[in-house]
Amino acid sequence: MLVLLAAIAVLAVIWGQLGKSHSLAAHSGSHGGHQTILLVNADHPLPHDFAKPRLVGLAGTIPVSSRSVRVARAVKQPLVKLFTAARRAGWTQLYVASGYRTAAEQRRLWDAAADHSYVQRPGHSEHQTGQAVDLADLNAGAKGLDRNGAGQWLADNSWKYGFVLRYPPQKKEITGISYEPWHFRYVGRDVAETCHDNGWVLEEYVAGP
Ligand SMILES: [Zn+2]
Repeated sequence: MLVLLAAIAVLAVIWGQLGKSHSLAAHSGSHGGHQTILLVNADHPLPHDFAKPRLVGLAGTIPVSSRSVRVARAVKQPLVKLFTAARRAGWTQLYVASGYRTAAEQRRLWDAAADHSYVQRPGHSEHQTGQAVDLADLNAGAKGLDRNGAGQWLADNSWKYGFVLRYPPQKKEITGISYEPWHFRYVGRDVAETCHDNGWVLEEYVAGP
């Protein structure tokens, strides 16, 4: 009995520390520690000292639009797991349309875009972190994911693999970005689950309850 009580006490301490590190991470908005979330949006540019992530290619592992599609190293395995689960659920036509972008690539997109409601300014794009991917379906494309079963499956299940649908339709006032059914950000399972359970976007997660 005593052993059991001691075990519960230890668990309670660990639980308390987990809660503390979570709230620290949520409010710091910086990068580096466990569960620390880097918020990148129109108001929060990439930090000046942001180091280029260690990148890995995806070609040969999961379907991609081009051999040049790369992501940050930590994102690859979760993404492979997401694709495996999607395939198992019957969504076999998904591919990664875009991953990491350099500042120069983001600038070209920004300069070429007639409509800036779907593009972030250079220095303000999650794609420059290597932690964001644009997904698409061979039949429906990227925009078509909004009325496609694969897109619905991704919106409902991607959190289990550590991803969040970054720009949901009902959160435009908060994210500043129009609904993008294709854009997913890797944040890790704990943060993704918290966002999913509370119906939060990252801005709300960082602000805290
Ligand atoms: Zn994107």
